Amino acid sequence: MKKNIIKILFSEKEIKKKVKNFSQISFPSNFIFKENEVIYVCLNQISDLNKLQKNFFLFQIGIKLQNFCRKGTYIIKYFGDKSLNEVNFCLGWEVGKYSFDKYKTTERNNNVATLISPFKGQIKKEKEVFFFVRDLINTPANFLGPNKIYEMGRVFLKKSFSSKKISGSELKKKFPLIHAVGKAASKEKMPILCELKSKNTKSKKKIVIIGKGVTFDTGGLNLKTGSGMALMKKDMGGAANCIGLANLIQTSKIDVNITLLLPLVENSVSRDSFRPSDIFKSRDGRFVEIGDTDAEGRLILADAISYACESKPDMIIDMATLTGASRVALGIEVPSFFCNNDQLSMELIEASQETGDPIWQLPLWENYLDQLNSNHADVKNIGNSIFGGAITAALFLKEFVKNQIPWVHVDLMAWSKPNKFSSYEGGEAMGIRALKKLIEKKFA
Ligand SMILES: [Zn+2]
Repeated sequence: MKKNIIKILFSEKEIKKKVKNFSQISFPSNFIFKENEVIYVCLNQISDLNKLQKNFFLFQIGIKLQNFCRKGTYIIKYFGDKSLNEVNFCLGWEVGKYSFDKYKTTERNNNVATLISPFKGQIKKEKEVFFFVRDLINTPANFLGPNKIYEMGRVFLKKSFSSKKISGSELKKKFPLIHAVGKAASKEKMPILCELKSKNTKSKKKIVIIGKGVTFDTGGLNLKTGSGMALMKKDMGGAANCIGLANLIQTSKIDVNITLLLPLVENSVSRDSFRPSDIFKSRDGRFVEIGDTDAEGRLILADAISYACESKPDMIIDMATLTGASRVALGIEVPSFFCNNDQLSMELIEASQETGDPIWQLPLWENYLDQLNSNHADVKNIGNSIFGGAITAALFLKEFVKNQIPWVHVDLMAWSKPNKFSSYEGGEAMGIRALKKLIEKKFA
């Protein structure tokens, strides 16, 4: 079998030596060349960027190059900057092959190019996680209710996790906020809390991972507009990413106890909908007044966080498609994170740079806490200002974190839009490679 050669060049000097028509190169539109049967990828124009961005671009370039090559077998013979993450390039290549065509009756052309990579095992695992997370998010709510996510999560995590779910009157009693948000849904979409626990671990270290799983968010009685609702099948993107993260940790054989908590609800409209001004007693005993039924994610997370704290874990991570304000601040590609522990924050930033999986810290700015004051209850679920919405959402969650247990809250889009590297639009895995790296550093 003929193997086509790829050379990835990072400096002008390298390029001048190897590529004749150097003057034509521009990034990101025209930096891939075929010359004398060798494919050159010329990255001198990103050499001034920081490590995070360079590693991020390598993933995107992998997608683009796979598309450029189309068919045949390829091998990377030269990779000019060993300080960067070559794995990203190969992972991007594989992820670039993804398509969601379950509901298309026309056949697609699946001419795909093969890359022979030295990181085969790792790439296969991470690619599977990407495909699972994307498939789950892309599946619309008429096919995917709370129970279905639970079932699919269980299947994906296979036999290495034990599982149980809480629903009905038990949920109402033990997790009143989760029940309140989900109680308007139809019978087969009733709210549940899933708990999946890793088996066969020797470690005494415990991590709880919590994913927001709103299978569809109409906004509830504070109904969203049509355009605001259009993407809301992705409001379970936190849960999908958390299942992906649990799988990444498990298959990397990091010896740590993982508990995966998935509050799964549909925020729908019916005579049973919870209302603005309703007051509910949360799991931890405090009363929460509903300022806006569209701020439902933080409610279901609050009860799950309280439950997580009761088992005194070494770390809690939650992931949620929580606020538009986070997207206003950082755009759709960069999830924000909040953390109550400075050391842990620094470690996560480092993990993000190394993996090229972007995630950016925003402050838990306590002085905004009084925006959540309620007239008639202990706390309200929405701030009274138009500013700082991602922060006040995080501060609301922090109210339920006990005993300064190290806690990371990730506010993510969980959705990709087409860009200069990829035409893909749909659900996305975000932040989980950085979080897995963090866990590996701390617990492996
Ligand atoms: Zn909402």
